[in-house]
Amino acid sequence: MVLRTIKQRRRLPLRSQYRLLSFDGDMTLWDFEASMRAALENTRTLLIERRPHMAAALVDITPMMALRDRILADEGASGLSFAEIRRRAFHALLAEHDRPDEALGNELYAAYLQHRLEATSLYADTAPFFGALDKSLRLALLSNGNTHPQHLGIANYFDVIAFADDAHRPKPAADMFSHALMRTGCSPADMIHVGDALDTDVAGANAVGATSVWLNRDRRANDTAIVPDYTITSLDELNALL
Ligand SMILES: [Mg+2]
Repeated sequence: MVLRTIKQRRRLPLRSQYRLLSFDGDMTLWDFEASMRAALENTRTLLIERRPHMAAALVDITPMMALRDRILADEGASGLSFAEIRRRAFHALLAEHDRPDEALGNELYAAYLQHRLEATSLYADTAPFFGALDKSLRLALLSNGNTHPQHLGIANYFDVIAFADDAHRPKPAADMFSHALMRTGCSPADMIHVGDALDTDVAGANAVGATSVWLNRDRRANDTAIVPDYTITSLDELNALL
C-alpha cells in the first residue's frame, strides 16, 4: 500500500504525466552500507597481515569508519569526492595508528574498492522492478556515490547515468536533476525521483519542481522539515504511482 504523506506539498501531476523516472543508487537500488562494511572488514584483515602490530588498534572497523567521517566533516574536505575522502582515510589510518606509507595506503584503498564492488548487491525488489517496467518511461540514475550500475547488471535500463564525482555538484544541488531533464528533453513536471535520503533526494527533487518519492525501506520516522510527495517502503509500491 502506498503511504500518501499527510502534509502534501502541492497539487501533484496526473500520474500519466510522468515521462522521466529517476533514482538514487546507494541504499535505494543496492545495499551500499552492507558492502561498505564487508569491504572495510576485508581491508582491515589485509592491513593486519601487512602490519600485525596494528591488530590491537583495529579490533574492528569502528576506527576506520570514524576516521572517514572525521575527514568528511573537515572543512578542508569540502568539494572532495567521496572516493577521495575514503582514499585519504586509509592514509590517515596508517599515519595516526602507525606511520605514513604512501604505497600501502594506496594498496588498501584499491583493495577496499575492489572488495566493495564485489560485495555490492541489489535489493531483492530492484531487478524485478526494472524487468517489469513500462518501456516508454525514460530512466535516470543520479548518484552521489561511486558504484556504477554496470557492476550490478542494470546499467542498460538507464537513459542517463550521472555521478556527483563526474563534474556535477552532489544532490540536493540541481545539477544532476537538470542534467537528466536536459538529456531527456523533459520538464520538471514530467519527472518523478525516488531515493532513500530526505536531505539529498527528496529535498533536491522538491527544489527543482519534480515529484519526490521517499523510499523508506526501514520505516524510519521523518524528523526533518523536508516533506516528500510520496513515501513508499519498497519498489513494488512505486508501480502504483506510475
Ligand atoms: Mg542513497
